[in-house]
Amino acid sequence: MKRLVIGVDLGGTIVRAGAFDAQGNMLSMRDIPIEAARGPESGLRKIQRLIEQVRAESEADSLVGIGIGSTGPLDPIRGRIHNPFTLPTWDDVPIVEWMQKAFHVPVTLENDADVAALGEYWKGAGQSIKKLFAVTVGTGVGTALIEEGKIYRGMDGFHPEAGHMILDPNGPLCYCGAHGCWESFCAGPSIVRDILSRDLFHSRLLQMSGGNREKIDARMVADAARAGDTVAREAMEKAERYFGLAIVNVIINFMPEMIVLSGGLMKSSDLFLPAMQAAIEAHSVMLPAKQVRILPAQLGYHAGLYGAAYTIWSQENEQSEQ
Ligand SMILES: [Zn+2]
Repeated sequence: MKRLVIGVDLGGTIVRAGAFDAQGNMLSMRDIPIEAARGPESGLRKIQRLIEQVRAESEADSLVGIGIGSTGPLDPIRGRIHNPFTLPTWDDVPIVEWMQKAFHVPVTLENDADVAALGEYWKGAGQSIKKLFAVTVGTGVGTALIEEGKIYRGMDGFHPEAGHMILDPNGPLCYCGAHGCWESFCAGPSIVRDILSRDLFHSRLLQMSGGNREKIDARMVADAARAGDTVAREAMEKAERYFGLAIVNVIINFMPEMIVLSGGLMKSSDLFLPAMQAAIEAHSVMLPAKQVRILPAQLGYHAGLYGAAYTIWSQENEQSEQ
């Protein structure tokens, strides 16, 4: 009998669903725009249909459960999404209860950074790593800690947000309310905000963007820095320096065996990795920080699907061992 779990990855613009067998083979996958502003009920119906399609395409005999990873804040214990920030109108949405009623199987809900890290633990760069820390840098900085294959949870199930650790209280203001947190220095939009605050009169960025400052993105800043543009170089060096400090803080706080890095940042890893290694070298007195392996993630945009499915398969394995 072919049994499967469906993993769902709900982001601010796209929702993906994938069907997985117990060995971690993806049997089918689909994605659609979520159009969150149309309201939670319309969104939940869409997700339900997507799960039905993926289930049908995978030709499995039975559905074991549904694991959902979502952009947060969310409550993994009560199974509700509270995220009017990137899912407009989605305030206190009981997604777990809805899917349980629709499919009559166990349903889990976890933070997207957590399931992406869990995916890397199950089938990606972090397989069999007991203390795995994951960092995703894109439009924000997401982090997760996986211990012995389990998501680390804080009080009341809260997901810790190391991406908002404060690196410089005199730094730029972040929407989290703090000045100078990791995200406010290193996320793509933060790098763009920094470059736009500088005098670009002599910078090749004006040429690269066709004279339209609004077209400048983090990728362009990195390309200009590589080409020797002084202003872009200064902005990137600042982001690289703070990124190195943040990684040092992660190591000092958690001493993971491995840190996996993912997101848009990895396209500029040639710029970020040397500064990070230098920061680690400079802070290896208290701990053997240099022994921490730092690797790129392997599963790309599918990491969250794998990890969401794994939340169900790992429950199954525990039950069968008892
Ligand atoms: Zn912040």
